[in-house]
Amino acid sequence: MKALMLDGIKHFSYVDVPVPVISAPDQVLIQLKAAAICGSDVHGMDGSTGRRIPPIIMGHEAAGVIAAVGSAVKDCVTGDRVTFDSTISCGRCFYCQRGEVNLCDNRRVVGVSCQEYKQDGAFAEYIVVPERVLYKLPEQVDFIHGALAEPVAVAAHALSLAQLSPGDSVLIVGTGLIGLILLQLLRLHTSGTIIAVDIDEKRLELAKGLGADRVLLSSGNIGEQIRGFTRGRGADKAFEVVGTEKTVGTAIEGLRKGGRLTLVGNVSPFINLPLQAVVTRQLDLQGSCAIAGEYPFALQLMADKKIDLSPIISAVAPLKEGAAWFERLYNREPGLLKVVLEI
Ligand SMILES: [Zn+2]
Ligand SMILES: [Zn+2]
Repeated sequence: MKALMLDGIKHFSYVDVPVPVISAPDQVLIQLKAAAICGSDVHGMDGSTGRRIPPIIMGHEAAGVIAAVGSAVKDCVTGDRVTFDSTISCGRCFYCQRGEVNLCDNRRVVGVSCQEYKQDGAFAEYIVVPERVLYKLPEQVDFIHGALAEPVAVAAHALSLAQLSPGDSVLIVGTGLIGLILLQLLRLHTSGTIIAVDIDEKRLELAKGLGADRVLLSSGNIGEQIRGFTRGRGADKAFEVVGTEKTVGTAIEGLRKGGRLTLVGNVSPFINLPLQAVVTRQLDLQGSCAIAGEYPFALQLMADKKIDLSPIISAVAPLKEGAAWFERLYNREPGLLKVVLEI
């Protein structure tokens, strides 16, 4: 089969590799139709994250058709249109038993190679995954959009942890792909003021079109501006979707006393935390990792057209042109958000 192989630092080859084989009875072989490029792939391809050690076929946001099933597969048949969880959980450990599959002790992320494991991903014609991570695509969701069920589910997981009330004012720091999806989910769940903060004016414009009441360019007096839109108090809830010291600081500054911050951004391993502000203002800090069963919810929203992914998809291109698109994304070409590769 053809595959887009990361075979060196920032270097791809479009190569022939063997079709993966079903090696356990609960596995399925999927013929992939579309796979989206994630920011973590783009950041990872230069070796900086240690999670895309070449050679690796990246890609963990994908959709396709089941081409073969193992002998113990129960609920899927050849021809089913599916997407799959980007985390392959073991189904047996303490966390899996509790449904917290994102916290699985033996988790392997599709399209990732790190010190502990290597799990080839979806920038290829076929992939093998266990049945337990599969989700059927609703009829109304095509493969291109189906490939984006993963980031929608990531946003839905963050929402599920935020303890949002219907009238809550919300601050979103970071209007990249996840931030813009999260914004749409939040718009469906609160009538309160939604404020989006970013350093990119174009993205803020997009945020405005997708439901933000107020958009703010990151600046020195950002806390004051946020309080100005929230009765002088600060937002009830905040989401941080970048993962740097400055943006976490903005989120903390923009919250009201007793507010809750859901942390989704995951770029910096360490940051300085304004401890006294968190303690004396009694803030609640909640990390959000990947997805724990939010796929059906995400896919239903997509089927019902309750969230609009079209402004977020910048380009759809064939897999063999993947390397060029990676380069454009790596070079932060203005206006480029999500690129989906067709297979
Ligand atoms: Zn991703
Ligand atoms: Zn597990």
